[in-house]
Amino acid sequence: MLDPSFNKKIRKIIHKLEYSMYVIIRDKSMACTCRDTNDTPDPDCPKCLGTGNRIKVKRITGVLEPDEVSLRLEGQQQAAPSNYYYFDADKVPKEAVRAGNIIVREDEADILQGAKKYRSDSNRVIYYYTEAVPMKSNHRLFLKNFYNLVRAR
Ligand SMILES: [Zn+2]
Repeated sequence: MLDPSFNKKIRKIIHKLEYSMYVIIRDKSMACTCRDTNDTPDPDCPKCLGTGNRIKVKRITGVLEPDEVSLRLEGQQQAAPSNYYYFDADKVPKEAVRAGNIIVREDEADILQGAKKYRSDSNRVIYYYTEAVPMKSNHRLFLKNFYNLVRAR
């Protein structure tokens, strides 16, 4: 439980550090027509951007906290570090922070891993905090199709 003054402070910090980004909201109940007989979506699909679902693109604001603490052991392969995001729950809808949605900032795309909700004493959600994994496969193709889609709107 967080006390109200703490909530205010958190919001202040988020508002100071947040900037504009896109979120791709996937409707997992709606399959895109590009799926083949194995149910695999076309990575070059201009409609779903390879997600295989119906999508909505929204502009939102959030705070990025890059995971810069990477202890690299010599000779050991390390996966790309995760990014972490904070979103003000009054400004960003719940559907935007669901796992599998994709955040696009400039030429970076991060896949959300499911948000934690931080609530006040009155049980109202104050902010979301979520881990996000940088997209690795078809990253450039995805971004090309994404910006074509955004420009065409
Ligand atoms: Zn598709």
